[in-house]
Amino acid sequence: MSENRNQTKAERALTSAPAGYSEHHTGYAIDLGDGDNPSTHFSVDFAKTPAFRWLERNAPRYSFELSFPPGNPQGVAYEPWHWRFTGDRESLETFFRVTRPVPNATR
Ligand SMILES: [Zn+2]
Repeated sequence: MSENRNQTKAERALTSAPAGYSEHHTGYAIDLGDGDNPSTHFSVDFAKTPAFRWLERNAPRYSFELSFPPGNPQGVAYEPWHWRFTGDRESLETFFRVTRPVPNATR
């Protein structure tokens, strides 16, 4: 969204996720891009880049997973750039709580 270019990543995170699902607040989430394809930053087109293909193959080895794949139970728009670390007990517990569908969640 070009109108968001002047926002900081934190501001963008706040606006792109429903209340309660902004994983950046946990400190375990990160947004990634492909430096050779900057036009795909924060776009579903990032999924077509070599960087994304590398992530798909290698992220699990480093205990990262895609937070919002297509059809995620939270109902958050597909965000191929947004990954979360699940490599220790605290982070796993954080996301176990967060990823439970919440009835009447406001967006
Ligand atoms: Zn993000």
